[in-house]
Amino acid sequence: MFLTQGLAVNEKGHLTIGGCDTTELAAAYGTPLYVMDEQVIRDALKEYVRSMKEFYPQGGRIAYASKACCFLEMYRIAGEEGAGADVASAGELYTALQAGFPADRLYFHGNNKPAGELRMALEAGVGRIVVDNLPELHRLSAVARELGCTADILLRVTPGIDAHTHSFIRTGQIDSKFGLTMENGDALAAVREAAAMKEISLRGIHCHIGSQIFDAEPFIHAAEVLLDFLSDVRTQTGLAMKEMSLGGGFGIAYTAEDQPRPYSEYMAMVSGALKKKAEALDYPLPFIILEPGRSIAAPAGITLYTVGGVKNIPGVRTYISVDGGMADNPRYALYQAEYTVAAASRMNDPVACQATIAGRCCESGDMLQENVSLPDMDSGDLLAVLATGAYNYSMSSNYNRLPRPAVVMVKNGESRVVVRGETYDDLIRNDI
Ligand SMILES: *Cc1c(COP(=O)(O)O)cnc(C)c1O
Repeated sequence: MFLTQGLAVNEKGHLTIGGCDTTELAAAYGTPLYVMDEQVIRDALKEYVRSMKEFYPQGGRIAYASKACCFLEMYRIAGEEGAGADVASAGELYTALQAGFPADRLYFHGNNKPAGELRMALEAGVGRIVVDNLPELHRLSAVARELGCTADILLRVTPGIDAHTHSFIRTGQIDSKFGLTMENGDALAAVREAAAMKEISLRGIHCHIGSQIFDAEPFIHAAEVLLDFLSDVRTQTGLAMKEMSLGGGFGIAYTAEDQPRPYSEYMAMVSGALKKKAEALDYPLPFIILEPGRSIAAPAGITLYTVGGVKNIPGVRTYISVDGGMADNPRYALYQAEYTVAAASRMNDPVACQATIAGRCCESGDMLQENVSLPDMDSGDLLAVLATGAYNYSMSSNYNRLPRPAVVMVKNGESRVVVRGETYDDLIRNDI
């Protein structure tokens, strides 16, 4: 069956991750349980950082988009591997700073950053604030004036690229809440305005065209469109910006059908296209920033659940109920996200049914996956949903007052808790 990196099956027929038997992890820490393989995270970061150096020695940075999976240890790991990080709220910024992440390697994103959060970012000395729109630009310049400092910014532009992905997670085309539209001149007008502000140092532009994209073409196209824009700006205003962020969005394998390219291939293609374009425009090659989130965190994670019961409705379907659901992983309920589900405690048993994995929340739509081929499962058996390292823990909720599960990190057969599971006291902490 399809297994993500770091997973294997041991002699007992149990699924292992990072050399740890998942049934032993479940026994030690309880379920539901998020498990992340530290080596897989580090390997992905290393490969991005390495291929940036190899294919784009002109200068660039990998900024881990931390909204994919955000807690102290993730920032420590990203920092150790030489990456920068994207933060998209004061909460993410606070977490990064508490982890000791170097502030000058942080990029502060978001389409509506309140003045208080902009102030916090400037006071912390974040590397770049990625300004989304004019009202935000005005807010930022006012805050910088008050603080008597200069804000280093990138402007987020919308290049109008349809990245052929799910519409819920498609953010680069014209109809988008994000960024300044290039087509109608909004982006150029904002550049002129920012360039004239003395509290603002305009360093470059940013775009993010979507998520879970497999083709290299949209990334290449975006890089070319952005460089064209930089060149236009130089012609029209004399300003030659030196930085360009191409966002994230690299696809990962959730199932056997997904076939992502090695990241070095994207890097080679994008850098090739940029070099050609820069030469044609006689524009100096910019410093580039890539912001992978999902592709760093998702493949490293699995979520373990204990089966509570099996309900077979003859001729209709078989429900397998587990002890988690949309509270710890809302992605199937939100947009029918596909996952591979493994019978972690019976990996060698033959397939015996097509099942729907039902969560325990009070919503009929609370499912984790449908049409899953599994062996006969019993109460007490262990299921693993694969590739849940991104947009699971970070999108989790306390719906039905379910405490968030712990996050355990594994490496070379050892495991440690990196986020404690919530207690009932945590649930009522802010209640009065
Ligand atoms: C979400 C996001 C990313 C990361 O996207 P992935 O698909 O997780 O790689 C990068 N940059 C910005 C601005 C984002 O909003």
